[in-house]
Amino acid sequence: MRILILGGTTEASELARLLAGDDRFEPMLSLAGRTVSPKPQPLPTRIGGFGGIAGLEAWLRDHAVDAVIDATHPYADQMSRHAVAACQTLALPLASIRRAAWLRRDGDRWIEVSSAEAGAAALGATAARVFLSLGRLELAAFAAAPQHHYIARTIDPPGDIALPPDIRFVFDRGPFDEAKEAAFLAQERIGFVVSKNSGGAATYPKIAAARRLNIPVVMIARPDKPHGVALDSADAAMLWLEALLAHRPPSTSRRSV
Ligand code: NAP
Repeated sequence: MRILILGGTTEASELARLLAGDDRFEPMLSLAGRTVSPKPQPLPTRIGGFGGIAGLEAWLRDHAVDAVIDATHPYADQMSRHAVAACQTLALPLASIRRAAWLRRDGDRWIEVSSAEAGAAALGATAARVFLSLGRLELAAFAAAPQHHYIARTIDPPGDIALPPDIRFVFDRGPFDEAKEAAFLAQERIGFVVSKNSGGAATYPKIAAARRLNIPVVMIARPDKPHGVALDSADAAMLWLEALLAHRPPSTSRRSV
């Protein structure tokens, strides 16, 4: 059974590990190409956009894909919208791994905003030291609040985008550790953390560290992602694929034609 995994997340990498070497499936992992050196994966991998919904439909048809797993990041809503539309048109089964959002806990000082632009405005007029824990694509919004000193942590250099004048970069990728995050926030005298509500364990330590140090977190709300069959883990995706395989009428096997 041919599977397309839309990836770029820990869950997609976990599913790739589960599927590697399982000859019941012919999986292909797809990455957006947002990072210059993505982590090596144990599955055949393609990188880059498909060219909108029509491009994705053509790709799925050309590669005789039988099922799609959307394991994209909670904020990658366009890719998910395209997957839902293309799978509907082609009548392909689609399942979506949906990572639970972080919930506010006692002691958290979250300022919830709807976008990066609203996040920049929420920092206020007074100059502050701000830790931007965002993808490089969201950083441009902070050019509108040039009064602050920013420290941005990204995987790769930002490239050619508008940036606030006073910004320093730290290049790193998770998983992170709470004690080190707390030491970093204290040493840099951070007054605000700006984050997406990515969920999961890998990037949560900065949220826990901010709580411990009583630092407000400007939390950018999640988009409302359309989805297929909702699943909560790579293991659940594996079970879904096995069930699909078990219930597949032999006539739909493209390998037999
Ligand atoms: P997006 O806005 O949903 O997608 C934009 C376009 O990128 C899609 O229309 C598609 O291009 C292409 N694309 C996205 N995911 C793809 C995949 N897995 N395989 C092939 N093409 C893909 O997503 P985004 O621009 O990547 O990111 C949006 C938000 O998610 C940002 O906040 C970003 O920081 C966050 N995020 C993304 C990733 C990631 O790996 N993508 C990881 C962590 C965080 P076509 O229309 O040409 O097909």
